[in-house]
Amino acid sequence: MKVTVDERGYYGSFGGAFIPEMLYPNVEELRVNYISIIENENFKIEFERLLATYVGRPTPLYLASRLSEKYGAKIFLKREDLCHTGAHKINNTIGQIILAKHLGKQKIIAETGAGQHGVATATVCALMGMECIVYMGKLDMERQKPNVERMRILGATVIPSLSGSMTLKDATNDAMRHWISHPADTHYIIGSVVGPHPYPDMVARFQSVISMEVKNQLIAREGNPYPDYVVACVGGGSNAAGAFYHFVEEDHVHLVGVEAAGKGIDSGESAATTVLGKPGILHGSKTLLMQTADGQVIEPYSISAGLDYPGIGPLHAHLCNSGRVQFLSATDDEAMVAGIELSRMEGIIPAIESAHAVAALVQLPFEQDDVVVVNLSGRGDKDLETYIRWGKY
Ligand SMILES: *Cc1c(COP(=O)(O)O)cnc(C)c1O
Repeated sequence: MKVTVDERGYYGSFGGAFIPEMLYPNVEELRVNYISIIENENFKIEFERLLATYVGRPTPLYLASRLSEKYGAKIFLKREDLCHTGAHKINNTIGQIILAKHLGKQKIIAETGAGQHGVATATVCALMGMECIVYMGKLDMERQKPNVERMRILGATVIPSLSGSMTLKDATNDAMRHWISHPADTHYIIGSVVGPHPYPDMVARFQSVISMEVKNQLIAREGNPYPDYVVACVGGGSNAAGAFYHFVEEDHVHLVGVEAAGKGIDSGESAATTVLGKPGILHGSKTLLMQTADGQVIEPYSISAGLDYPGIGPLHAHLCNSGRVQFLSATDDEAMVAGIELSRMEGIIPAIESAHAVAALVQLPFEQDDVVVVNLSGRGDKDLETYIRWGKY
């Protein structure tokens, strides 16, 4: 099983670039150039330097001893929550902004739902002195005020999207429209392993630093680079893609993606795409998405804003259909209980997205000496309101 796209930008039958004619030149410029830029020695030096000195990599691989005792296996937490800005998303925005510079772009646009990708983008634009415009649904701006203000403090312009449901998909449409009318000087930073080729492959490559580090850290700790399990939550799928990347071709490593079941798979309020979704086109690629019989996208739901997405990246659609990755889900309640448990047992308050990965541990048949890596994608500071509203602690 390969982790990279074929020459047409597909993972098996998923992926590709389904875009309006007007967007073709922008995406084509990226497609033709991205590999040679990423593999250029100057790019690598700058990317690695910023990951080390600015993001704080390598992030620790922490043996969670009380959690290990509870689940009867060696549970390691990959601490992406300790990255600058509090989650893995900055690995990708650092990569893309250096790429944008190599392409000669001066301006950056992005879309954001909960605001986490917008903050990670505004951060790297400040770092590089580049102009930053972030499109965000008006409704999302009201729901995520602190992140709107973070972006503004960082110098970004946040533009409310006023069409449709005034949420992520409308912000995405506005960002696309902006990009079409400013092709020469602007790069569009997409925040997960979604969108038209080459975005899924490009973002997965930037996030693959996670599994590269895990391998090195496991060699030092266990004398063996290969864990028995890698577990990660899946919204669009970028932290999972990064955590799985260097293990996909090693069939003996059990890979587990955890989706948000919301109020329950059959409740009508869920984001468990691999169970509820069917093949279709979403945000420029062919993938699995939740849709009605006549192809209308179904509004997803999760208590966690980062998992509240109606699709998954095409890589994950392929890994799911081929059986290489086992997909599980955790409900809102299960994730909240797991988030409190991790706080109490290890002194780590996780992002509610990451708590979904922890919540899936009870569903896995570990044996005593199994080495399990849970990708802790982010920290819980942003979710304090949700923890308080949940209240059961
Ligand atoms: C955005 C986010 C996610 C979901 O995005 P992926 O692309 O699936 O990784 C998960 N965890 C955290 C902390 C996030 O901010």
